[in-house]
Amino acid sequence: MSDAFTNAVLAWFYEHGRHDLPWQQNPTPYRVWVSEIMLQQTQVATVIPYYQRFMTTFPTVEALAAAPEEVVLQHWAGLGYYARARNLHDAAQQVMALGGEFPDNLADLMALKGIGRSTAGAILSLAWQKRGVIMDGNVKRVLSRHFAIAGDSSSAAIQAILWQLADSHTPNQQNRAYTQAMMDLGATLCTRSKPLCLYCPVQHTCQAYRLGTPTAFPQKKPSKSIPTKEAYFLLLENEKGQLLWVKRPPTGIWGGLWCLPELPVAIDLAQELKTRYGLIDAHIEARASFKHTFSHYHLWLKPLYVRGTMLMVNDELSQWCDKEQALTLGLPKPMLTLLAALDDT
Ligand code: SF4
Repeated sequence: MSDAFTNAVLAWFYEHGRHDLPWQQNPTPYRVWVSEIMLQQTQVATVIPYYQRFMTTFPTVEALAAAPEEVVLQHWAGLGYYARARNLHDAAQQVMALGGEFPDNLADLMALKGIGRSTAGAILSLAWQKRGVIMDGNVKRVLSRHFAIAGDSSSAAIQAILWQLADSHTPNQQNRAYTQAMMDLGATLCTRSKPLCLYCPVQHTCQAYRLGTPTAFPQKKPSKSIPTKEAYFLLLENEKGQLLWVKRPPTGIWGGLWCLPELPVAIDLAQELKTRYGLIDAHIEARASFKHTFSHYHLWLKPLYVRGTMLMVNDELSQWCDKEQALTLGLPKPMLTLLAALDDT
């Protein structure tokens, strides 16, 4: 099918769309899939260096499936939402169990871990060059605005309307170009806070533009406040100037990554340091606290620089590292901020 909206978007894409993104070169299902997962919740400019590094280390689904999870997580460190990396790794092993070939239909793609309807649609469209329908943040924004869809865009009812609109405007022919076009339109013109409506190929039919309120769409339900927690993070330094790093459990925040030791604030600190590390009469200095926000809570990180003679900490989930070694572990961003706190005097 084809319609005025679709044709206008396609015509704009051929002249103004993005044609040189790394995952557009040699767009195999594997390369498209990794890019789609990285681009969830993360901007293109941030993703590009991560993507290139990931592809250098794991050029094939086979290489990814065979890699230790820790190495995969190290390549993800800094991108956040680490469940994406773990799912990617698990799904690579699922693909290898299927003989190493990616499925080329929606149902089988969606059976892979971490692949939802939109990611499956993108792989079908961009890699397999079949008809695929997507609903990423960009597409949701463009459609919500163009058709002035009122109501909580995360609700099942509005999602159904948006998918129906997406499906009805997605062409059978030039499907791949249209998929990329909608992503590009949302990323470059119909942007979150300052849409460039004057340059938009569908401005003449855009209802949000006509209403004068593009940024009022997509609509959200009133944001409920999320709780705030706090925790100590220990910059625990030994005589060699090394810090203690601890591998987090596989689930929970920063699951499977190396982090500084975390302690709850409601404890007897001196007693805890003695029990855990054999530290007596430790020198303790508080460094500047800072806040990190997860999707479901804020965390105030309270760095404590701790020095003293301590018993050996000896288990495979702990290691002493100097700064350079620590940076090779693949640390989550707040840990880099904590490391910088060491330089504060
Ligand atoms: S006219 Fe403006 S609000 Fe409407 S789709 Fe284009 S950029 Fe988005």
